[in-house]
Amino acid sequence: MRVRLELLRVGHCRHCERIAHRGGRWRSVEFPAFCALILHPREGAILYDTGYAPRFLDATTPWPERLYRWATPPHLDADERLEAQLAARGLRPSDIRWCLISHFHADHIAGLRDLPAARFVCMREDHAALRAASRLRAVRNGWLQALLPDDFEARLRFADDLRRVAPPPAWRALGDDGHDLFGDGSLVAVPLPGHAPRQMGLRLTDQHDREVLLCADACWSRRAWRDRALPAWPARLAMHDWPTYVATIDRLRALAKATPELAIVPSHCTESVAAYRAAAEAT
Ligand SMILES: [Zn+2]
Repeated sequence: MRVRLELLRVGHCRHCERIAHRGGRWRSVEFPAFCALILHPREGAILYDTGYAPRFLDATTPWPERLYRWATPPHLDADERLEAQLAARGLRPSDIRWCLISHFHADHIAGLRDLPAARFVCMREDHAALRAASRLRAVRNGWLQALLPDDFEARLRFADDLRRVAPPPAWRALGDDGHDLFGDGSLVAVPLPGHAPRQMGLRLTDQHDREVLLCADACWSRRAWRDRALPAWPARLAMHDWPTYVATIDRLRALAKATPELAIVPSHCTESVAAYRAAAEAT
């Protein structure tokens, strides 16, 4: 079953390009936060992550959380706010039925509290690590518990508990683990561990009949799978498990090689999003 996919840029922060990937320059570059709006024929409006939200500032006002804001100061223009972008498409935040959470870094989930009717899906291991972390450890890991709705667990289900499905042959390079989120094959959660303990990527076929992998922060740039340009060492500190992160990038490289027509879209790669949009416009 196909779904309608649109990629939304919801704010950005700035990073040193050289740290984000080897071969980059020693200059500050925009690091956009993209999320995805998915319209499912039966389930309705679904988000994959939320990007930034004004709540990020509230959550990073106290210490030690303020360190997070200092490390990655965010920018969110009024017209880039999720609510404004939903309104431009005739949707209210309360119309979002599901929010699929790639992982719990704050630039991916800052808007969860703004979705009053959404249920949530994530990977069990990511949730367990988040809830087990001390306050200081959470900040060190890029997690802000204050961004989670008070009734988060009551509205949560784990992708790992849903029916396992075998990947199509061309996707086997990525591994054989996948979970069918809605029982119709439209959205399949695939683990992309390393950046986060488990991290949930999403396999789908869009309205243009194009196969897409939303890969969140499995890599920050398409250069990772094209040129194996990995982040420089300070950024490695942001990874949950560096060897596993590199292994996941190598799986992405193998997948990209096996399926050149596939659109692989990381959450912070302007080039990948532009390529996806250009191909969508051409069809
Ligand atoms: Zn992340």
